[in-house]
Amino acid sequence: PVRLRVAPSPTGDPHVGTAYMSLFNLAFARQQGGRFLLRIEDTDRARFREDSEQQVFDTLRWLGLGWDEGPDVGGPCAPYRQSERLTTYRPYVERLLADGHAYRCWCSTERLAEMRADQQACKQPTGYDRLCLGKSEEERRALPGFSETPVVRMRVPDDVDLAFEDLIRGRLTAPRPDDQVILKADGFPTYHLAVVVDDHEMGITHVVRGEEWISSTPKHVLLYRWLGLTPPAFAHMPLLRNENKSKISKRKNPEARLTWFEEQGYLPEALVNFLGLLAYPPAQDADGNDVEVFGFEDFVARFDWREVNPVGPIFDLKKLDWLNGVHLRALEPQDFTSRLLPFLQRDGVLGAAPSLGELGRLEQVAALIQTRIAHLTEATELVAPFYVADDAVEVAADARAQLKDDAPAVLDAAADALAALPDEHEGLLGSEPTFRAEAIEAALRGAVVDGLGIKPKFAFGPLRTAVSGRRVSPPLFESMEILGKTSTLARLAALRA
Ligand code: ATP
Ligand code: GLU
Repeated sequence: PVRLRVAPSPTGDPHVGTAYMSLFNLAFARQQGGRFLLRIEDTDRARFREDSEQQVFDTLRWLGLGWDEGPDVGGPCAPYRQSERLTTYRPYVERLLADGHAYRCWCSTERLAEMRADQQACKQPTGYDRLCLGKSEEERRALPGFSETPVVRMRVPDDVDLAFEDLIRGRLTAPRPDDQVILKADGFPTYHLAVVVDDHEMGITHVVRGEEWISSTPKHVLLYRWLGLTPPAFAHMPLLRNENKSKISKRKNPEARLTWFEEQGYLPEALVNFLGLLAYPPAQDADGNDVEVFGFEDFVARFDWREVNPVGPIFDLKKLDWLNGVHLRALEPQDFTSRLLPFLQRDGVLGAAPSLGELGRLEQVAALIQTRIAHLTEATELVAPFYVADDAVEVAADARAQLKDDAPAVLDAAADALAALPDEHEGLLGSEPTFRAEAIEAALRGAVVDGLGIKPKFAFGPLRTAVSGRRVSPPLFESMEILGKTSTLARLAALRA
């Protein structure tokens, strides 16, 4: 059975690319009935960030891209954090040294910097000049630029074969690599050694990662060969691009941070759907139209490496916004309501433990806004007015500015008409509430549109402002129904005052 992995480095907020790679890894693993692993590649101690690993767990789980083996769930190849595997790498390094495929290098960082500067000045290719190759520690110590703790370097032969097969791109080659460091002075392996040892030890059959690693793969293939190991299959995914073709990066694009999507009120299923359209063609329906809306299971069912387009796809947030709206509208009402809740709590509209009454009202309001928002974050503004005291409705400046001279007359006529409607029978068992949207609409049209002769387009503006404080709100008559007669009248009076 196949075994695939995603191997993020905990160096900051997780990258959206990590979710992208996870989706493709996981889709293939699921389709083949194999396993998906999460490995934390924390060998770069300088860039390590404490909270990063937990963020990787949380964001990938939020997306539903869970793993079968990993640091938090364990598994037969534990530990799954490279910093806890240092003893695993040692014998591999010893073997490479013993076989002459690797050598110790005592060059100080200063000496390496000087060497590089000289090479650049003379327009020579940069790369390690092999000063330490073939020298004992004593021989090397006699020369300048010696450092007590050596690193270990690969000895890359001049006539090395740099070609390998890629599942997406076919046969690839890369420029001849430098004598790459594989063991650092701090005793940690570099990425290149650790990735090869771990992919082997963890039985990885397919390495699926970003295209920026294409140039590293020949080094890895070389290590597999020297160590007598069978290399996995490789698939290098295209990097996600901005419209101007630059790669999206955390330094320039907020949307490169995976946590951003949750903060902005995107649904995980919309983001997964979106990622599954990047560099991958949508299915076609019977009429030959693209089927762009799909779930993870659909993606798994039709996944095929040969379909992946190696050209870097444009990360088009407008498309994601559209998909998010589609997925929002498709949610069951109760599901939609429960997704809103954390945002309303975050924004202080509701407390940590809302009452049953508050939750009941939320269900009613949610039904009014489900078709009207594209992000969960947009709910706060629409929902908040339903949870404030009637004399504390905050009137937005633009809503106040559009109130005309006839506003008092409109408010008075509306109040009279609504007061004349039969009372709602709140809480009375078996009694139908009578303060209903249809009756409210009829009463208000009669009183304001017909009675005062104001066009419908203008007639309800002051009423909307009274009820919600906003120019844009959920539908007015339904909002009044939810608030009830007493509240509605109190709000009309409050704006009138
Ligand atoms: P930079 O800001 O230089 O792009 P970064 O911090 O955004 O760096 P890295 O730390 O280099 O990103 O990479 C983190 C992970 O995200 C890596 O696994 C990498 O393959 C992936 N990644 C980075 N950029 C992209 C991209 N544009 N598309 C897809 N994956 C990416
Ligand atoms: N730690 C590497 C990264 O974050 C893993 C690359 C790979 O999958 O081999 O990109």
